[in-house]
Amino acid sequence: MKKYKGTSNNFGDVVLGIVTRQPWTIKRKGHILVSEDVPLFPVGFRGIVHTNVSDNKKLPAIKVQPNDLRMLSEGDCISLNQNGTVAVLWENRSPMNAFLLTESCDCRCLMCPQPPKVHNKSLVETSREILHLVNPTATQIICITGGESTLLNDDFFDFLTLIQEKCPKSPIMLLTNGKSFSDFSFTKKFIAVKPKNLLVCVSLHSDIDEVHDKIVGVNGSFYKTAMGLQNLARFRQLVEIRVVISKLNADRLESIANFIIRNFPFINHCAFMGMEITGYARKNYTDIWIDPSDYEEQLFKAVRTISRSKLKVSIYNIPLCLIRPTAWNFARKSISGWKNEYLPICSSCSVKKECCGIFTTSGAFQSVRIKPIISTTSLGIN
Ligand code: SF4
Ligand code: SF4
Repeated sequence: MKKYKGTSNNFGDVVLGIVTRQPWTIKRKGHILVSEDVPLFPVGFRGIVHTNVSDNKKLPAIKVQPNDLRMLSEGDCISLNQNGTVAVLWENRSPMNAFLLTESCDCRCLMCPQPPKVHNKSLVETSREILHLVNPTATQIICITGGESTLLNDDFFDFLTLIQEKCPKSPIMLLTNGKSFSDFSFTKKFIAVKPKNLLVCVSLHSDIDEVHDKIVGVNGSFYKTAMGLQNLARFRQLVEIRVVISKLNADRLESIANFIIRNFPFINHCAFMGMEITGYARKNYTDIWIDPSDYEEQLFKAVRTISRSKLKVSIYNIPLCLIRPTAWNFARKSISGWKNEYLPICSSCSVKKECCGIFTTSGAFQSVRIKPIISTTSLGIN
């Protein structure tokens, strides 16, 4: 989530609204004005983001740097906070936006980038408010992330119903550990209310129960996730399996691929993913980090196995210079803009345009083997 820091004025509660850059518009309801100056008659806006010192109006206002002001686009949904933070909750021009319904979870993954917390009900209320304010296009993906949103039961089902009512054509992605779907009656209820165009993205990190359970930090998880996948298949749901690669499973990627094609041949997509080194992943860094170039052979064999079985397969979040060129066809760039960032050395790389780059959230925790590819000719690729 993009955030900008400024200084606040006239504040009480958090203010949420849609960005407008038109000070004279009469459509002010639900809008926050983003403008260099505070206009003479700002009445009707929910708040103002500006760069001008003179703010004597009674509306909640945040003064930010001119560069930050330029980053806020018409139609974005933003929140203004008393501490002077402007957070972008919905990017109007982004192909994908995420809703965080809860940070609570029934797993404790060693590499979790968003460590579980006690559920805060305001996250559901904020998500509802955002959904009420925004106007997603038919191609804009809505991602439900967490935490484990399925644990919210009625609040989760109500939010799915709301999405179906507000944007029935939008593609939806639900990120889940899949355990809730091991309960057949839960899955049945989910099927009854879910938006039509919904892909369930289930994390599965090993073909061995003990290894998966060790990675996700809770015994019995492997069995529940596998059951969940089978229940989703009974209802012919669109399913993706996500394997996050760490030191604990990197030597078994080909076996994991074989396990997936034998046991879950109904899936629509399988994704092998590099780690984001933040949250628990940073805390457990020495136990879980492995340089992607150390598992390039296993990764190549895994994607080859899945692809030969005619299932779709992709690699996410691993720079091309750390992947075998024969596996580059499977490497994808992220559709979340903030994930496609690059190091200064990447400027001379000939495949930068095709490369996913690095997670900025991983900070200094990057592979030391990232190295520009000067020419693809020597690799036999043109
Ligand atoms: S990464 Fe693991 S612990 Fe974190 S939210 Fe996902 S399932 Fe829960
Ligand atoms: S040098 Fe940078 S742009 Fe080139 S492949 Fe590596 S990470 Fe990607």
